[in-house]
Amino acid sequence: MQTHFTAAQLAEARTATSEAVIRKCVRCGFCTATCPTYVLLGDERDSPRGRIYLIKDMLERQRKPSSETVKHVDRCLSCLACMTTCPSGVHYMHLVDHARAYIERNYKRPWSERLIRRLLAEILPFPRRFRAALRMARLGRPLVPFIARFQSLKPLASMLALAPRHMKRSAETRTTLPDSARGRVALLRGCVEPVLQPEIQQAAIRVLNRVGFEVLRAPGEACCGALVHHMGREADALVAAKRNVDAWTRLIDDGGLDAVIITASGCGTTIKDYAFMLREDAGYREKAARISRLAMDISEFLARYELPKLQMHEITVAYHSACSLQHGQKVTDAPLRLLTAAGYDVRTPRESHLCCGSAGVYNILQADIANRLGDRKAWHLAALGADVIATGNIGCATQIAARADTPVVHTIELLDWATGGPKPTAMEQ
Ligand code: SF4
Ligand code: SF4
Repeated sequence: MQTHFTAAQLAEARTATSEAVIRKCVRCGFCTATCPTYVLLGDERDSPRGRIYLIKDMLERQRKPSSETVKHVDRCLSCLACMTTCPSGVHYMHLVDHARAYIERNYKRPWSERLIRRLLAEILPFPRRFRAALRMARLGRPLVPFIARFQSLKPLASMLALAPRHMKRSAETRTTLPDSARGRVALLRGCVEPVLQPEIQQAAIRVLNRVGFEVLRAPGEACCGALVHHMGREADALVAAKRNVDAWTRLIDDGGLDAVIITASGCGTTIKDYAFMLREDAGYREKAARISRLAMDISEFLARYELPKLQMHEITVAYHSACSLQHGQKVTDAPLRLLTAAGYDVRTPRESHLCCGSAGVYNILQADIANRLGDRKAWHLAALGADVIATGNIGCATQIAARADTPVVHTIELLDWATGGPKPTAMEQ
C-alpha cells in the first residue's frame, strides 16, 4: 500500500515500523475471508485491509482520530487470523497495537466508555481486586436485564453476566523436585486465570513435575500486561512487561531457567512479544529478548517430551484452538498431538480458524459481536458431539462455557488426568 508519511514522521521509530507494515500490504483482500468481523458485518472497514487503510490515514494525518476510525479499530478482535492468511507477511498485530495506543492518547471517548475501560484496567490485572469484584458482581447479576436496556451500560451488563456463579479457592499446588530432574521452568501465575480456574495451573505443575521439571514461581511476577495493551494503555503494559522481565531475569541469574511456561495463550502471545514491545528501551532490550525466547505455551513445551504412565480414558474431545495460540503463536499441532498421544479421541470443529469472540475484554466492550461469534463457535463445537471441550486459553473457556452444555476444560487438565492426576472438576459437575 502506498504511503505518504513525511521524513519527520518517519524519524519516529514507531511510525517508521508501522509504515513498513503498511507498505507490505498489496491489497489482495485474501485476509477478508478469514476476518471474523468482516465475515459477520460485511463492511470493508471491518476487514483487515480496510482497517489498515483507516490506520494509515489516521497516522499520516497525525490528527485526532475520527469516531468512525475508532469504531472500526475497536471492533477488531486482535485475533490475528489475518496474519495467518496474509501471503505478504503483513504484521497486523504491531500495526493495530500502535493504532490503539495512538487512539488512547489522542481521542476522548464518551464518559461511560472511559469509566468501563478504567474499571477493567484497574481491576482485572490484580487478582485480589478481581476476586472482590467477582463477589460483588454476583450480587449485581439480577440487575443485568435492567442495565442491558441502556446502550452505554451494556459493557457493565456483559461484565456482570460473565461473572462465574461460584468462586473457586485458589490453593497453590506444591511443586516437587523430580528425582532425576531434567531442569527447571518458571510458570506464569498471571491474573485472571488463577482466580477463575486455579485448577489449570495446579494441573500444569503436576504434569511438568511428572515430565521431570521443577516448577518455580518468580517473586514479583504478575499480570503480563496483555489486557491493558489491547486497550491501548501502552504505558501500563510496559510497566507490566518490565516487572515480569525483571522477575524472571532474577531466576535466570540465580540458577538458570529452561523456559517460561504459560498456560493462558493470550498471555503467551504478549510475553513472546516483549522483545518488540521493549526494543527501544536500552535497559531492557536484551533482557526482554531473552524472556521472549524462553516463553513457551505449556503444550508447545510438553510436545518435546514423552508423557509418562498413561491412563487411557475413552472419551471424545472437541478441541477449540484459541486464536492467540494458532494465529498469535502458530502453535497448532502440539495440543492435538498431546491429546491424541494421551489416548483421547480428538475432533476439531468447522470454522476452527474463527475467533470465539472472547479476545481479552472484547466480550465486555463489544458484547453484540462477541455474542454472535460465541454462539457460532459453541454451535460448531456442539455439532461434534464430544464428551468434553478442551482449549488452551481461559478467555475462550469462559466464553464457550457460558453457552455450551458440554463441560469446558483446559488441555493441560486432560493431560494431567491421563497421567495420573484428578478428573477435571468441570467434568465432575
Ligand atoms: S492479505 Fe495481507 S496483503 Fe492482502 S489485503 Fe490482507 S493484509 Fe493486505
Ligand atoms: S485481527 Fe482478527 S478481527 Fe482484527 S482485522 Fe485481523 S482477522 Fe479481523
